[in-house]
Amino acid sequence: MSAPSSRRGLLIILSSPSGAGKTTLTRRLRDWDDTIRFSVSATTRAPRPGEVDGSDYHFLTEAAFKSQVADGQMLEHAHVFGNFYGSPRGPVEAAIEDGRDVLFDVDWQGAQQIKNSALGKHVLSIFFLPPSIAELRRRLVSRGQDGPETIAKRMLKSWDEISHWDGYDYVLVNDDLDATEAKLKSIVTAERLRRSQQPGLTDHVRKLQSEFEEQS
Ligand code: ADP
Ligand code: 5GP
Repeated sequence: MSAPSSRRGLLIILSSPSGAGKTTLTRRLRDWDDTIRFSVSATTRAPRPGEVDGSDYHFLTEAAFKSQVADGQMLEHAHVFGNFYGSPRGPVEAAIEDGRDVLFDVDWQGAQQIKNSALGKHVLSIFFLPPSIAELRRRLVSRGQDGPETIAKRMLKSWDEISHWDGYDYVLVNDDLDATEAKLKSIVTAERLRRSQQPGLTDHVRKLQSEFEEQS
């Protein structure tokens, strides 16, 4: 007899100060389970080399972004590093209704707004801390993506982001990457098994009850 397979989707929110490893861990989680849908954010910032429109971000003009916010098309939105960022609502609602998990790479403001939304009870939020500030700076520099001015800006914003660590369900210090990845997968596996995420359990227990009554 097989166990009930139907389950509700989780909204998995990953946040961290820039450079702590969130993008790397997001990629590893998606490689581990390709049924997880990634929420492609909209942003008004310019694409970085290699970033693909519609896959890394939806790159929008400020006017287009504001119009989508005004139309209620964003589940959450925030101003980060001088640019607007937001999570389009439609794809998230469709995936959750379909029983799929959705992964968000958003800052603490986005995490709070999603938690306070109608979908808040299905949120799993995880925050990554760096082992030290020196290591955070080293990772930002070694990523080779930003100049000294942007790195200084990111370091300043990092403290603001870190100061919201206690608003998350889980906090992982990303020291050893493989160990953090293993912990992340364990958390997702366990959270998927919460009673509230398994609506099919009620029917399964009813079926067990009728089998029990038939036999007694
Ligand atoms: P974020 O998305 O949080 O800004 P990234 O995932 O881009 O961070 O990681 C920043 C840099 O640090 C990348 O070069 C990445 O390969 C490296 N990195 C991530 N996690 C670790 C780790 N645990 N140990 C060493 N380097 C790491
Ligand atoms: P980056 O420009 O480096 O890709 O992202 C900068 C910051 O914006 C990161 O902290 C990232 O998590 C955050 N961010 C990306 N997309 C969204 C979003 O849709 N909403 C919010 N609130 N933050 C976002």
